[in-house]
Amino acid sequence: MSIHFHPTNPTIEDDHDANLPSSDEDEDETWDDWISDSSTQRGDCRSLFDNKTGNVEDIIAYDKAAHGFDLNEACARLSLDVHGRIRLINFIRQTKPAPANIASLTGKESFFTSDDFLRPVVEDDPMLRYQPDDWTDSEDEDSLSTDRRIRLLEQKLTETKRDFQEYRKIVNQRFNLGQTAEPSGLPPKRDDDSHYFESYGANDIHAVMIQDKVRTSTYARYILGTPSVFENAIVLDVGCGTGILSLFAARAGARKVFAVDASDIAMKAEKIVKANDLDSVITVIRGKVEDIQLPEGVKVDVIISEWMGYALLYESMLDSVLVARDRFLKLDGVMAPAHSRMMLGLCDASEIVKDRITFWNDVYGFDMSVMAEEMYHEAVIDVVGSHAMLSTPSVVKELHLSSTTTRQLDFISSFKLTSSVDRRTKVTAFILYFDTFFTASGNPVAPEKEVDVIQENDAVVAEVWPLGGRPAPQRRMSQHHKKEKSVDKSTGDATKTDVVTSFSTGPKSIPTHWKQTLFLLKEPFVVDEGFVVYGHFHCRKSVSNSREIDVEMHYTIQDVEGQNESPEVIVQMFKIQ
Ligand code: SAH
Repeated sequence: MSIHFHPTNPTIEDDHDANLPSSDEDEDETWDDWISDSSTQRGDCRSLFDNKTGNVEDIIAYDKAAHGFDLNEACARLSLDVHGRIRLINFIRQTKPAPANIASLTGKESFFTSDDFLRPVVEDDPMLRYQPDDWTDSEDEDSLSTDRRIRLLEQKLTETKRDFQEYRKIVNQRFNLGQTAEPSGLPPKRDDDSHYFESYGANDIHAVMIQDKVRTSTYARYILGTPSVFENAIVLDVGCGTGILSLFAARAGARKVFAVDASDIAMKAEKIVKANDLDSVITVIRGKVEDIQLPEGVKVDVIISEWMGYALLYESMLDSVLVARDRFLKLDGVMAPAHSRMMLGLCDASEIVKDRITFWNDVYGFDMSVMAEEMYHEAVIDVVGSHAMLSTPSVVKELHLSSTTTRQLDFISSFKLTSSVDRRTKVTAFILYFDTFFTASGNPVAPEKEVDVIQENDAVVAEVWPLGGRPAPQRRMSQHHKKEKSVDKSTGDATKTDVVTSFSTGPKSIPTHWKQTLFLLKEPFVVDEGFVVYGHFHCRKSVSNSREIDVEMHYTIQDVEGQNESPEVIVQMFKIQ
C-alpha cells in the first residue's frame, strides 16, 4: 500500500520531494488512501449550518467566519476523540442547533455517548473523515528531522486508520450498512462460512446424520466392503464431523486417515478418535479443506466425504470437495462417492399443499392466506410417499465426481416428464431428489445403472447397524453389491467390472434426512396418462448467499395428442434456503 500524506500540511508538502512517497506512485487506491486524501481533495463537503459546499478545510473556515463556529476549536475545548468529534458533527447536522448554543456544550451531553450519533446524517460526509493536523502542536517542527516527521506522520496515520476502521465497524454493525466499501474499495467480502460452520458445531445435527440409516449404512457398506479401495490406503475425509467415516476407513484397514473439519465438531472428533484408540491412524485437522496443509507432498488414494445437501447442491459443500480433489487426490485416486444424480418428477403434493397452503385460508374463521404466499417462492423440504410420483423421473444432472468442475454446478438442463397416472390427477408440484453411487474404481456408473432403493426391513441396513447397542455383526458381502460394468470416462465404453454401492433419497426409499425437495406450483394442472411436461430446469448458486440455491422451472404441458395445454411457457422461481 502507498501512503498519502496530508497535502495541506505545509511541513509535509514542503518535504514531499525529500523522502515522502509520491502520490504518482499509486496504483490502487484503497480505503486508507481515501481516508487520507479525500478529506481535503474532494469538494463535496457541506457547511454545518447552511448549504455552502467546498473542501472540508474551506468549509470549516467558512463556518467559523460566517457562523462563528470553529469545529476544531470546539473539539479541542471539549477534548473530543475521533468518535466524539463524529458524534458532534452528526448532532449538529441532525438537530441543527444555533451556532451560539453549541458554545455552551460541556461534553457531558447524552449524545456524546450515544451510538445513534455515529450514524452519518449526510451520506459519505467528508467532514466525518477529516482529522485536523494538530500533531505539530506538541513538537517543534523545525527541529524535527525528516525521518522523525515521517515516523510521526505514519504513527498518526495508523492511529487515524484504526479509529476509522473501528468507526466503520460500529456503523456497519449498529446500522446494518452492508454497503460501506472495504479497504480495497471493493464491496465488503461476504461471509457465507461462519454461520454455516457454527451450525455444524452442535451435536444434534450430527446425531441426525448418523441416525440416518440409509445414509450412514451405505457409507459403511461401501467403506467396509471395498478393501481394494481402503486397505492400506491413505484417506482424506473432507468434513469429518464426528469422524464416523474416518473410523469406518480405519476399521477397513486404511494406513492413514486425515480427518478435516472446519467446525468445532473437529475437537469432538479428536476425542472420539482417541477414545477408540485410533489416533495412530487418524489425524484430525481443524480447518477448511481449502486452507489446510497435509504433510509435505502427501497425496491421498481416496477422498471420502458426505457433502450432499438438500436438493443435492444446497450448502455448496461440493465446491470444497472438488478443491480437495484437485489439491490432494492422486491422479488415479478414488472419489467416494463417485457419482450423484439429480432427479426431477411430477408430484401430487396435495397433502403438503393442504398443510402449508390451504390451511391458512381459514384459521378460526379468519383469512390468513397471505401467510402462504411465500410457499410458491421457497422450495419445501418434506417427505412424500412413493404414490405421490406422477411420472417416471428425469435425470437433470449427472455429477461425475472425478471430473466435475465448480462451474458445472450452475446449469440449465432440459427435461421431459411423461405422466404415469392411471386416472386424471392434479400435479401440484415438481419433486427433486438425488441418487448417489460409490464404485470401487471411482468411475461413474453407466447411464442405465439404476440406484439401489433401500426399504424398511431391508437387510442392508441391519447388516452394519448395531442393533440394541450390540456390536455390528461381522460384515458379509451385501446383496446390493452387484458386479457392474463401469464406464471408461474418456470413451464411455464398458471396460471392467466394478462394485457399486448406492442409495436413493427418492420417495421409494426409506426417508433420509434430506427428505425430498418440492416446488409447489402456483398453477397446478391436471394430467391423464401420457401427458408430457417439457421444460428447463435452471439451477444456480444464489447471488446473496453462495450456500443457497436459486431454481427456475420453465415448462409447457402437452396432452396425449401433443396439443399444448398451456400455450405459453410457464415460469416459476424458487429459493432453496
Ligand atoms: N462426515 C460426517 C459429517 C458430514 S456433515 C458424517 O458423515 O457424519 C459435513 C461436515 O463437513 C460438517 O461437519 C462441516 O463442518 C464440514 N465441512 C463443510 N465444508 C467444509 C470445508 N470446506 N472444510 C472443512 N470442513 C467442511
